[in-house]
Amino acid sequence: MDDCIIIGAGPAGLTAAIYLARYHLRIRMFDSGSSRAAMIPCTHNHAGYPEGISGKALLARMHEQARRYGAHCIPRRVTAIHPEDAGFRVATEDAEYRTRSVLLATGVVNHRPKGLLPDVHDPALERGLLRYCPVCDGYEVTDKRVGVIGTSDHGMREALFLRGFTRDVTLIAPDAAHDLDSGCAKALDEAGVARIDGPCGGWAIEGDRLALDTASGRMRFDSVYPAMGSRIRSELAVSAGARADPSGCLEVDDHQRTSVPGLFAAGDVVKGLDQISHAMGEAGVAATTIRNMLDRQQPIRR
Ligand SMILES: Cc1cc2nc3c(=O)[nH]c(=O)nc-3n(C[C@H](O)[C@H](O)[C@H](O)COP(=O)(O)OP(=O)(O)OC[C@H]3O[C@@H](n4cnc5c(N)ncnc54)[C@H](O)[C@@H]3O)c2cc1C
Repeated sequence: MDDCIIIGAGPAGLTAAIYLARYHLRIRMFDSGSSRAAMIPCTHNHAGYPEGISGKALLARMHEQARRYGAHCIPRRVTAIHPEDAGFRVATEDAEYRTRSVLLATGVVNHRPKGLLPDVHDPALERGLLRYCPVCDGYEVTDKRVGVIGTSDHGMREALFLRGFTRDVTLIAPDAAHDLDSGCAKALDEAGVARIDGPCGGWAIEGDRLALDTASGRMRFDSVYPAMGSRIRSELAVSAGARADPSGCLEVDDHQRTSVPGLFAAGDVVKGLDQISHAMGEAGVAATTIRNMLDRQQPIRR
């Protein structure tokens, strides 16, 4: 029986693995290979890397650190978590494992604009023509020409946030005409954010810009931010009985405990800042709470 099974090896899961392995606990970590961190061409807001670091390089360093303490990642998708009397059964596609606790660190998946296919999406992301996180990299678009794909309250908030970095912000509705109430429209007008109706299509990299068709014709931007929400990968915990908010973010207390005893969550799958540092901090709290919970059940002694 494992002490803890970690599901997800992004910044949250890997941080928890490092902590738990260093607490001399028996852990197992599964990952299905789609960390959002792996999409980061070069992060400049993650403290400690003044020259920046790519998400892939950061993950590789964290894997190496975890391995030094015996925490190896198993490349498998977890398909179910079954609570039992003394812990959980965790299922993958080909096996089942028993564990005293579970940490879910499965993250989220950003919704992408329709028609923005990998042949344009991936190189645009790599070149910073396409961005998903103004908190992370709004600084990099200072005084640039920026498009935001979105509408309603969420689109408005992202456009206004970006207005703090550049005066040239255009909010483009993804599918049809904008869906903005009078309060949103007024706030956008006051901030000088241009509004263009969708649908969007015809995505292409043209020189140093990302181009797309809109209801007002073809437009080109230095960077485009989709602001279309995310799918929260919380279904394993929700099926096991954990409470989530309407968007799917798991509810946790200030020790990262979900509403199911012994089931913890950290990182983007929990409502929060959706940042590497936040994911790491939550994972450190979760790992230490897991350690202390297990110690109360059966003292951890060398
Ligand atoms: C383009 C982009 C740029 C960003 N830039 C920055 C930045 O500069 N600074 C910053 O702080 N943040 C940045 N972020 C945000 C950052 O990537 C996330 O906040 C961070 O990766 C969250 O870590 P996590 O461990 O919670 O989730 P993730 O990194 O998404 O990891 C979750 C892991 O869980 C695995 N998983 C999911 N379901 C299962 C399952 N059923 N079984 C097994 N494994 C599963 C996935 O494969 C994945 O590897 C950026 C995000 C994007 C998309």
